Amino acid sequence: MELWKKILQRLEPTIEKRNFITWFQNTGIIKKEEGTIHVGVPTTFARDWLTEKYNLKILQAAQEMNPEINEIIYEVHSSLSDPEDTRAVDMRKIFKNTIKTVRKISKKAEIKVGSTGLSSKILNPKYRLENYISGNENRLPHAVAEAVAQNPGSLYNPLFIYGEVGLGKTHLLQGIGNHILHHDPDKVVVYMTSEKFINEIVTAIGKKNTKAFKDRYRKVDCLIIDDIQFLANKSTTQEEFFHTFNELYDNNKQIIISSDRAPSELNGIEDRLKSRFAMGMIVDVVLPEYETRLAILQNKCQEHQTIVAPELLEFLAYNVDNSIRELEGILLQVIARAKVERTTPTVRMIAEHLKKLNNDRNLIGYECTDTAQIEKALSTERIISIVADYYHLTKSDIVGSVRRKEVMVPRQICMYLIRQELEKSFENIGEEFGGRSHTTVMHAFSKITNRLKEDKRLVSDLHSIKQSMGL
Ligand code: ADP
Ligand code: MG
Repeated sequence: MELWKKILQRLEPTIEKRNFITWFQNTGIIKKEEGTIHVGVPTTFARDWLTEKYNLKILQAAQEMNPEINEIIYEVHSSLSDPEDTRAVDMRKIFKNTIKTVRKISKKAEIKVGSTGLSSKILNPKYRLENYISGNENRLPHAVAEAVAQNPGSLYNPLFIYGEVGLGKTHLLQGIGNHILHHDPDKVVVYMTSEKFINEIVTAIGKKNTKAFKDRYRKVDCLIIDDIQFLANKSTTQEEFFHTFNELYDNNKQIIISSDRAPSELNGIEDRLKSRFAMGMIVDVVLPEYETRLAILQNKCQEHQTIVAPELLEFLAYNVDNSIRELEGILLQVIARAKVERTTPTVRMIAEHLKKLNNDRNLIGYECTDTAQIEKALSTERIISIVADYYHLTKSDIVGSVRRKEVMVPRQICMYLIRQELEKSFENIGEEFGGRSHTTVMHAFSKITNRLKEDKRLVSDLHSIKQSMGL
């Protein structure tokens, strides 16, 4: 309950007030288990809305409270609307009483008061220089980022990183910020998107308070501005930024900037700014090659503590070649779907997902076949025969009563697949396996389900078996 309130306090400044109250009214944490929190919501409508629009924000806020959290599951519990249900928050109450303090907390969160009396933005802990996989292509930006993180304000100032969307600019920027803070929590690191920077300036001007704005930035040790291209044609903001830049630069404070294009191509940005951007180090990030994409996927699986068959990661690394954000996004959806449907994903599952995103896509390593046809052709006999072949056993080994491990595991896999793909009842399956009891089948099923969480070999075997079935 407290955790949920804290998460909401984090979210509050980022979501428009009316939406915030509407969608989070009568929500609450129902259950918490390692890495996962179950958030109860009163209606399916709210569930869908939170999942689609706010899941990322909620997850990020939750991770700021507890970096272990890697998944949020939304569940409908209509009883939460009942005022008696103490698991739910009453937004109107919280909001009414704490709006001022919430605002203050959020300022603090963004600009933490350190011993110097000033501020550091709390960065997303998931972006670290250590988990940025550079490969050959992005070795330079990565190395430069590390150098800046170790010697802020001295080596490369300003650092200007540019490249197309989804290639890891924000990751590097925040990774530097996290590194600096990790080694010296008293340093004042401010990370901002350029939109946020514009808003702050507009507000300061509105309040006729640009002096306070200037003073605030003067105390910053490292200023990070993400996506500077949005400053185009905002001349007042550019003017302020110019002064802030000079002030920091003259005092050897680190400035880090990202953009979707090189400084010289930043139309609508004043020349004097562009020339300043070029005074330090300019590096670009590019799309990594296949091998690096594969390494990134493997790394993300590890971070999410999920085993995905290697064949499948290879298929993804081959076929998703426009941005790492998309690559990661698809992997996460695959993982999430596999969790919900309690099954190991196959190339087919992913291929269909990719097709949905972009129908014209030409997928390497996948031939489109009719799902209905494949499913019709599946039967208990076929599953047993494919699994038996795979393990070089006979069908009678599989259905027989030998209790050696080499036979038991394939037998359990058969039961698992028959249940999973043909949706037969445990009793029914037991009968087909020489009159075994339904508890034996249930045991086999849960055994395989559990082992799939930790046994790489089994995941890979199951993937190949499913592949032979055309699944
Ligand atoms: P950009 O700011 O360039 O649009 P992001 O930094 O937001 O891109 O990256 C998008 C996603 O891809 C992030 O989740 C990031 O962690 C991930 N990502 C991008 N490049 C890499 C990389 N080389 N290694 C690990 N993760 C990466
Ligand atoms: Mg970005």
